[in-house]
Amino acid sequence: MRASESFPGWLSVGCRVIIRGVPQRDDVPGPELDIADAVRAARPADGVTVWLLGNAGVLLVDASGRRLAIDPWTSSWLETRSAVNPEPVVRQRPARLASEDLADLVDAVLVTHEHPDHLDPGLAGTLTEAGIPVVLPQGCVPAAEACGYPPSALLPVRAGEDVDVHGFGVLPLPAAHAFAGGGYGHCEEWLDGGGAHRAVGYVLRCGGRVLFHAGDTVMWRGLAERLRSARVDTCLLPINGRDRLREERGLVGNLTARESADLAAACGADVLIPVHFDGVLGNTGSPGEVVDYASASYPQLSVLLPGRTGVHLPPREERSPA
Ligand SMILES: [Zn+2]
Repeated sequence: MRASESFPGWLSVGCRVIIRGVPQRDDVPGPELDIADAVRAARPADGVTVWLLGNAGVLLVDASGRRLAIDPWTSSWLETRSAVNPEPVVRQRPARLASEDLADLVDAVLVTHEHPDHLDPGLAGTLTEAGIPVVLPQGCVPAAEACGYPPSALLPVRAGEDVDVHGFGVLPLPAAHAFAGGGYGHCEEWLDGGGAHRAVGYVLRCGGRVLFHAGDTVMWRGLAERLRSARVDTCLLPINGRDRLREERGLVGNLTARESADLAAACGADVLIPVHFDGVLGNTGSPGEVVDYASASYPQLSVLLPGRTGVHLPPREERSPA
């Protein structure tokens, strides 16, 4: 059973993630954070600097000042009731950038898949107006067009095919982000009718580093080996996990905190940056759990949580082939 058969409403416009019976944001303490000024001022001498935008959103700046965002969710579209979003979500924390600042700052946006906490429908007009190209898997082009992107704004990519995006080397890899049937916990690659991927992760080469942003995925056989052969040194992995109740609500699960550390260690990375832990209430995760587990099991792994000034990753010495 595929997700598109189980939850047709969710996927028909690619724009619905529904959580009911969860706390309101007022219940969650914590200051808001806006990183626009810090990003604008940053010009690393080498390597790459990484910020979190909230949920799976990440922003990278390299030494030449090029900026790339992955899965930015900055508009209030998903939190706002409308005819196409009748059951809005509650976000744990606001985005760390306003949509206008995002459009002003970045050279390009990468999207891993069409779920609206990754492909933000409320950003389509802002990014298109600013002329920001959006790189996305071939199979989620129809969903992006349904969100309002003109075809000319989209740069579709295919899993396994390297592309250059404003000086960043980008290699899309498959993501296991569709229900495979067979009961709880079974996921598979998400493909359209023609076999094109609708969900990917990205290996990113920039500033002498090799990063991997997984998008939404669970472990799939061969993933660690693919990352190892790509010489990934820094993993940006979801940690919100999965469980039967969330699956029954139609939420395709992600790596757990432990699995994220297991994958980072298995592929030979030495930096793990947890993402997808502070998005939709009821579907969040715990970076602290990653730290506890990794410090006990993988002391060679640095678990980093970028704040206002981001985290600078210096160029890494070339690793010997795996
Ligand atoms: Zn998703």
